[in-house]
Amino acid sequence: MPRAVSLTPTATWWPSTLYQTTTLELRRGTERLLVDPGISPWEIDEVVLAAADPVTQVLVTHADWDHVMGLGVLADAQVTASAGAAERIRSGDARASIEKESVEAYVPYVALDALHCDQQVDPPAEVTLGPWSAVCRAGRGHTDDGLLTLFPEERVLVIGDYLSELEIPFAHSSVADYGQTLHTLIGVIERERPEFVVVGHGPPHTSDRALQIADEDLDYVEAVLAFAQAGCPADQAERIAVPFRGGGPYDRVAHGANVKLACEAAGAPVPA
Ligand SMILES: [Zn+2]
Repeated sequence: MPRAVSLTPTATWWPSTLYQTTTLELRRGTERLLVDPGISPWEIDEVVLAAADPVTQVLVTHADWDHVMGLGVLADAQVTASAGAAERIRSGDARASIEKESVEAYVPYVALDALHCDQQVDPPAEVTLGPWSAVCRAGRGHTDDGLLTLFPEERVLVIGDYLSELEIPFAHSSVADYGQTLHTLIGVIERERPEFVVVGHGPPHTSDRALQIADEDLDYVEAVLAFAQAGCPADQAERIAVPFRGGGPYDRVAHGANVKLACEAAGAPVPA
């Protein structure tokens, strides 16, 4: 079973073994664009060496370590990211987190001295990436630096760590922002009906499947916010219905962290 999955004549999806972190490859003329190239050196090499045409463009959905591991390998490509992600790359935050997390996952890293970001986006914005045009919107809540990027000519929407088949919402930066991002996603998907919605972890969706997950996730996020608004009774967090995404161990951790963050933001007592 080959790793690469052809989505359209010009788009290929490459899952990493670790967390099914996604690399999306777009081809146009004699150029290639990669979204979040990763994770391990052999996986990055396999994608880069899959065609003779050079990788000239890279788009970063957000600067978490598993999404920026490959930037140093692609020193000649123009890297585009949000202003927040660009800052995490330039400041060394992204590098420090690669060094810490990849060791824990037994994944070697290479070329961290060459991590780079060349074009920064302040969403909402129309952006040119070589021969590709894209529309970028803010996708905050999982992290503060997320980009939701529509490639209208490809009919592909790339959203980073939202709407995964494999994990529940994980609001690292803000539960309220996460809810806003879900509203943005529902609006864009209903209006544009992309052929594929490509997520950061796990397989890409049809528009219909993406909207189903968005509805489930919005119900969940609104329940967490309501729980916090109600004063966050610490012994009742288990009563919030959590979407089932395969039962992975991180979902319980994510739920606890989401509730704690929402309660802190509401000024309510934080559950133990
Ligand atoms: Zn991720």
